[in-house]
Amino acid sequence: MDKNQSTELLFEISHPGRRCHRLPPCDVPVVPLDRLIPRQFLTSSPPPLPEVGESDVVRHFVNLSTRNMSVDTNFYPLGSCTMKYNPKRHERLASLPGLANLHPLQTDESVQGMLELLWNLQNLLAEIAGLPAVSLQPAAGAQGELTALLVAAAYFRDKGEKRSRVLIPDSAHGTNPASAVIAGFDAVSVKSSPKGLVDMADLKAKLDDRTAVFMITNPNTLGLFDGQILDVTAMLHEKKALVYLDGANMNAILGKTRPGDFGADMMHYNVHKTFTGPHGAGGPGAGPIAVRDYLAPYLPVPVVVRDAQGRFRLDYHRPKSIGRVRSFFGNVGILIRGYCYIRTLGPDGLRQVSEQAVLNANYLLARIKDFLEVPHGDRCMHEFVASARTLRRERRISAMDIAKRLLDFGYHAPTVYFPLTVPEALMIEPTETESRETLDSFASTLRQIQAEDAEYLQKAPHTLSISRPDEVKAAREPILRWKPDSEPRPNR
Ligand SMILES: *Cc1c(COP(=O)(O)O)cnc(C)c1O
Repeated sequence: MDKNQSTELLFEISHPGRRCHRLPPCDVPVVPLDRLIPRQFLTSSPPPLPEVGESDVVRHFVNLSTRNMSVDTNFYPLGSCTMKYNPKRHERLASLPGLANLHPLQTDESVQGMLELLWNLQNLLAEIAGLPAVSLQPAAGAQGELTALLVAAAYFRDKGEKRSRVLIPDSAHGTNPASAVIAGFDAVSVKSSPKGLVDMADLKAKLDDRTAVFMITNPNTLGLFDGQILDVTAMLHEKKALVYLDGANMNAILGKTRPGDFGADMMHYNVHKTFTGPHGAGGPGAGPIAVRDYLAPYLPVPVVVRDAQGRFRLDYHRPKSIGRVRSFFGNVGILIRGYCYIRTLGPDGLRQVSEQAVLNANYLLARIKDFLEVPHGDRCMHEFVASARTLRRERRISAMDIAKRLLDFGYHAPTVYFPLTVPEALMIEPTETESRETLDSFASTLRQIQAEDAEYLQKAPHTLSISRPDEVKAAREPILRWKPDSEPRPNR
């Protein structure tokens, strides 16, 4: 493949008059456009579109698509993201015409099957959470957090209590403090202990009557199950505050324990992580929340309900509801995939998922810990966090260098520099869908990489068409549109 050609923009290969289509002669009367659309809404010149042939367009996009990294093409140990295989059968089921072709404005009577599916899913998620009331609306984990915190705010407001603070461990995902602030709370950080768990003394010091919610991720982002959880939830409940479980790591505990049973009052799921919705490149996802019964009145509308006659309907008449958080019913396509997954596996299958995920992570941990430091332990849940801090100090090799070099070997990089509590962090989550052979070859590749020359690693990747883009510049100064004067001109 000619590298240069495939990085050219369609504008750059444009030729005047080149087309991909041939239209038959017009067989209806021709009407000037300004008779249909008021002149002020028409542009004076046609938009500068590239003029290219069909093979140009097809090659352009097919070649771009081969530069994608995906779970279908590569091992993807992106910690915290649970990049497990997405069964193709779910795609087929989600695109069945009876599901895919529904219109969101159809009447409840005409979508009984879909409503039944969603109602069942609400019940399954309630059962897995150990929390009885579910909203399927939030479109991602982060929106689930925000929604649950708005529910908490509504609950305290209703009780006439002023509670302004949300406590969050310093190892939490960045979305936790962001959600707390957007929901109108002050986010207060709680330290981790040297073992990577909640520092109970610090929690105690920060917990008071101003605390509305403690957000905890368990197992946490270090891949450790916090065994203090019953004490933590008891402490919060003594202050009449709520416990929120960030459920992004549910893959480790499905069918083993339930957040509701260990004292969480609210949680979100990431259907696109735990229940095989495809994700990456920003979605779509689904972040349903489950809450205790006394919080149910505040859930967003609509909720799927079944009446005494067994008919399903969308319930909008919930006077205490926080309102809508998403158009229509949420990302139903992803919810269907999650439903298929849960129904296919059943309770025993889901438990096996977690057992296998934890086994795979521990296997990989055991294979790498003699050459890559893992600060918080010999054992993990579904993921673990290695650190390149010693490599960096002694040989100037950073977590970023290792992550970049892995790309040369056809692996997606692990999550790096997160959680913030571990310097030079490499957060690795293999998931249950990877074979022992894949884990073995990944471990040998890591072993090989850490033995390589620092200068060579600092310039990695060596085999890809782009090596180290300036990520800060890309985020701060994105080029979102073609500028006629600064770029090669399209031929028009
Ligand atoms: C992924 C993740 C989130 C956010 O979920 P999104 O679906 O990406 O919005 C929150 N917390 C943790 C621990 C996560 O891994």
